[in-house]
Amino acid sequence: MKNIYHTDIYKFEKPVNSYWEETTKENFNLKRLTGDIKAEVVIIGGGYTGLSCAINLIENYNLDVILLEAGKVGWGASSRNGGFCAFPPIKTSFKNLQKMFGKEETKKFFRNSVEGSNYTKEIISNYNIDCEVTGDSNFIVAHHPNKFKQIKEQAEVYKSELGIEAKIYSKEEFNKIGHEGTQQFGALSYKPGFAINPLKFVNGIARYALSKKLKIFEHSLVLKIDKINSSYTLRTLEGSVNTKKVVVATNGFYQEGLVPQMNSRILPVISNIIVTRKLTKNEIDSHNFKTFSPIANTKNLLYYYRKLKDNRILFGTRGDFVGSDQSNLNRSKIMEKFLKNIFPNWSNISIDYNWRGLIAMSQKLTPSIGKIENEEIYYGFGYHGVGVSSAPWTGKQLSKLVFSSNSKDLNISKIYKGLPKKFIFPKLRIFYFRLAVLFYNIKDKLNI
Ligand SMILES: Cc1cc2nc3c(=O)[nH]c(=O)nc-3n(C[C@H](O)[C@H](O)[C@H](O)COP(=O)(O)OP(=O)(O)OC[C@H]3O[C@@H](n4cnc5c(N)ncnc54)[C@H](O)[C@@H]3O)c2cc1C
Repeated sequence: MKNIYHTDIYKFEKPVNSYWEETTKENFNLKRLTGDIKAEVVIIGGGYTGLSCAINLIENYNLDVILLEAGKVGWGASSRNGGFCAFPPIKTSFKNLQKMFGKEETKKFFRNSVEGSNYTKEIISNYNIDCEVTGDSNFIVAHHPNKFKQIKEQAEVYKSELGIEAKIYSKEEFNKIGHEGTQQFGALSYKPGFAINPLKFVNGIARYALSKKLKIFEHSLVLKIDKINSSYTLRTLEGSVNTKKVVVATNGFYQEGLVPQMNSRILPVISNIIVTRKLTKNEIDSHNFKTFSPIANTKNLLYYYRKLKDNRILFGTRGDFVGSDQSNLNRSKIMEKFLKNIFPNWSNISIDYNWRGLIAMSQKLTPSIGKIENEEIYYGFGYHGVGVSSAPWTGKQLSKLVFSSNSKDLNISKIYKGLPKKFIFPKLRIFYFRLAVLFYNIKDKLNI
């Protein structure tokens, strides 16, 4: 298997040095796969998608399922994201979706996105997960006066076309209930939306899955899938599992070579997060930072930030292009400047944590859910950095697909269905992405 980025980012055995790891010491310490065994379904990847798919397969269809995870449970993006339960999981506009797929499919797509957010909330309650839910909406902040018109239009579309609860706040209004700062020129709020501790969430799902007798093997990287007649043998360093059906739930950590039909279709993108030290009440008040709801701004290369329950500020944005530990550190220094430009009164606040991970993008600019033609291999990926609401829901949809073996049966918007196109000259993927970033950086500098 081939890695797109530096090997540092694929050190599955190494725990990620995130703030979230400091908030819980829960570890499952599950065995690695040794020996040769069988199962009805094997899931590759133990994040939100894989775990949710497994639970639904066991609870609704009583299937015998094994899950193989390269690191510890949730090692990928699911344990280290920002914890924003936002939507939609796309990198294109409502207008573009309408042009490509028509009004009805676009509306259905947004309905499915809202269902996803509600499903995440449902899981938290049904599986009894204490994952520090905060906030009761999502905010989008206009980072420049030019962008206020854009969020006003978005609020109108949300309300009148999509039936989504949305509200506009002027700069002065948001100063009172959200925060003030140099890049705050009004905001849009939409519901549902909230924030979570992502590690406690994924651990909670895993705990529930284990209680339903899901067999999870940690530190069991699938190196190869062999097909003999109509069955698959998944090989790890020390063992193998024979099965009739395979679910690939590796999202941004997919490594080229595992499934030939999936190669060259995913663009893994690095996303970085920094977390400040705890702020005093006076420091928080100096920018009137009131809200605990998640916030993203209107930059093309967006900033996302939130106040954590212990008065730290979590701040995230696009990562670097390399993936080494050093490039992560360099990027975090740049991000510290971004944060302090918005909130100048915090210029002396130190950063306690920095980390990064991989999200999955694709040429489709929307998620992909489906089954590989003429194979019993299923996939769900490409949430474009919005997986808290869409990955658990995708896992549930995948379970239906696996059970019926028929992708046409799935009653979800067509926008999700099928694989994205392959990249032309896939080795140049990161170069294409660099060009796109350059373009969006210029747009952001010009505030267009
Ligand atoms: C820094 C960062 C911040 C983010 N912030 C947000 C946010 O605030 N809100 C939001 O909605 N989304 C956010 N995301 C995205 C979100 O975390 C993901 O979309 C979501 O977690 C995807 O879940 P998943 O289960 O599909 O994939 P992952 O959680 O990435 O899990 C994939 C798993 O597959 C395993 N794996 C890979 N290859 C193999 C193999 N060959 N064999 C065995 N196992 C394998 C990996 O170890 C990994 O654990 C963020 C992502 C990052 C990186």
